[in-house]
Amino acid sequence: MDNTDTMAKRNSPAVVGPKSPDPDISSESCLMEGIADPGMIVIVGASGDLTARKIVPALFSLYLNNGLSDSFLVVGCARTRLSDREFREKMRNALKTAGILDDRKWQIFSRSLYYRRVDYGELASFQSLADSLKELNKKHGTEWNRVFYLAIPPSLYKSAAEMIGKAGLSTENREGNGWARIVVEKPFGRDLDTAIDLDRSLHKHFKEHQIFRIDHYLAKETVQNILMFRFANAIFEPLWNRRYIDSVSITAAETLGVEHRAGYYEQAGVLRDMFQNHMMQLLALTAMDPPSQFEADRVRDEKVKVYRAIRPFPISRLQDHLVLGQYGAGTVEGKRVPAYRDEQGVDPQSLTPTFATMKIFMDNWRWQGVPFFLTSGKRLAEKRTEIVIRFKEVPHSMFRQTLGEQITPNRLILGIYPDEKISITFQTKNPGPRVCLRPVTMDFNYNQDHTGPLPDAYEKVLLDVMLGDHMLFWRQDGVELCWAFLTPVLKGCETCVDRAEILFPYESGTWGPKAVGDLKK
Ligand code: NDP
Repeated sequence: MDNTDTMAKRNSPAVVGPKSPDPDISSESCLMEGIADPGMIVIVGASGDLTARKIVPALFSLYLNNGLSDSFLVVGCARTRLSDREFREKMRNALKTAGILDDRKWQIFSRSLYYRRVDYGELASFQSLADSLKELNKKHGTEWNRVFYLAIPPSLYKSAAEMIGKAGLSTENREGNGWARIVVEKPFGRDLDTAIDLDRSLHKHFKEHQIFRIDHYLAKETVQNILMFRFANAIFEPLWNRRYIDSVSITAAETLGVEHRAGYYEQAGVLRDMFQNHMMQLLALTAMDPPSQFEADRVRDEKVKVYRAIRPFPISRLQDHLVLGQYGAGTVEGKRVPAYRDEQGVDPQSLTPTFATMKIFMDNWRWQGVPFFLTSGKRLAEKRTEIVIRFKEVPHSMFRQTLGEQITPNRLILGIYPDEKISITFQTKNPGPRVCLRPVTMDFNYNQDHTGPLPDAYEKVLLDVMLGDHMLFWRQDGVELCWAFLTPVLKGCETCVDRAEILFPYESGTWGPKAVGDLKK
C-alpha cells in the first residue's frame, strides 16, 4: 500500500477556528495551527478504555478535519491478543458509540490502523515491536516520526518507557525529522517522591522536549480562553487583584460516581484525581501574571510562580483549609444512586474522599489575603465547571440608609461547562416608581458568531504533540511544586488517627457536605 491509498489526499487546511464578525480578522487567521508531520502514533495499552473513548475518536475527528498528514499510522499495542482486523472492528464500534462514525471515511482511515501484541516489561516484545514499526514506516512513509502514548495504568509507565528506550525507539535524528515523543497521562506519580521517580525513569531515554504530560482540561476551548480574556482586554486586568477581588471560587462538579474506575479511584481519591492536575491548572490560569509572550515556556514560567506562592496548609489545622467528603446514596438527575461504599469494587469501609473544598491563599502582592476556594466532587447536584470572581462590595453605599439593602457585590463567571460563557452580574435600578436595586446578568456565550467545528480537547492535545508544541502540557517543575504542596496535605489526611472524622458524608445529588459553609465564613 502506498501513501496515496493510506489516506485520501486532502489539500484544504482544517478550519476549526471561529469565523469572526470583525472584517479585520479573517477566519483564515484562526485555522488549525498546521497539519501534523507524517508520523505514527503508537498507543501502548490500546485494548483499554481511554483508547476507545478518547484517543481513537480524537484521531478520527482530526482526520475528518484534515489535521492529519496523509502518511499517518496508528499502531495499537497491549497484552491482549488481537489481529489488525479485530482491533479495527473494536475501534469502529468505539466511533459508532461516540456517534462520529462515517463509514466512507472510516474505510480509508482504518487502513492506517494496526495492532501489535506487547508485554510491558519484556524487552524482546518491544524489540519485535521496533522491527514491526520500521517495516510499517517503510510501507507508509512516516519518516520515522513516532509518538508513544502511554494509555496504561500509571504503575506501568516506568517499565513501558524504559522498554521503548531500550528497544532503540526513543532516539531522534539530528536532522530534525525522525522525532520521537512520549505522552504520559495523569496521574504523574501519587506524591512528590513518586513523581520525581517517574520523571527520572522517563529521562533515562527521553529528553524533556520529547516528554508531553497531558492534562486535557487545558485544551478545552473555554479554559484556553481564560488567558485571552484576561490579557487581551484592558478593562479586567487592573481589577484583577486584592484591591478589588474579595474571593475566587473554582468548581469542577460531576454528577457521575466512580463508575467502572473503582480500582484506580480507591487509590487516588479526589485530591490526586482532580486537585493535583486540573484544579491547579485552573488556579494558575486565574491567578498568574501576564507572560511577556504567548510562548510555551514563558506561560509555564508564570504558572510555576503561582504554585511557588501557594501558602502551605498548617497540617495541625487542616480543617481550617480543607473539607473532605464521601457520597452517600441519593438521587441524581432523577435516578436513585448507591453510596460510594456500595459501588462495585469499592471497600465497604472505604475512607477515600470523593469531594473536597480547599481554601488556598497566595503569598504575593497581587493576591495577599484573597481566598481561593477550590471545589471538586462526584455525584453532586449538577455537572458544572466554572470560575467565579467575587468582587468587593462598593466602599460606601449611598443606598444603604434609604433602601436598607445589602448591595450584592459584582460577580464575574467564567463558565467552562455546561455553558461555555462569560457572565457579569451587576446592580441596576428595578424598573418602576420605587427606588430599588436589582441584580442583572450580562452573558457572552462562547459559541456566539462561531460557525466552524470546535475541536475536542483530546484532538487539540494530540495535534499539539504531533506539532511539538508544549504550551498545553505540564512541565516537570510545575508537577513537583504542586505535589510539594499537596503531599503533606495527603499525608496529614491519610495518616491521622481520626481519619473517619475528617471525612464528611454527603447525600448524592446535593452540593457536598454542609461543613463547606464553615470554611467559607
Ligand atoms: P485501562 O484500565 O483501561 O487500562 C488500559 C490497558 O492497560 C488495559 O486494556 C490493559 O491492556 C492494560 N492493563 C490494565 N491493567 C493492567 C495491569 N494491572 N497490568 C498490566 N496491564 C494492565 O486504562 P484507561 O484506558 O482507562 O487509562 C489509561 C491511562 O490513562 C491511565 O493511566 C489512566 O489513569 C489515564 N486516564 C484515563 C482516563 C479515562 O477516561 N479512561 C482519563 C484520564 C486519564 P492489556 O491487558 O491488553 O495489556
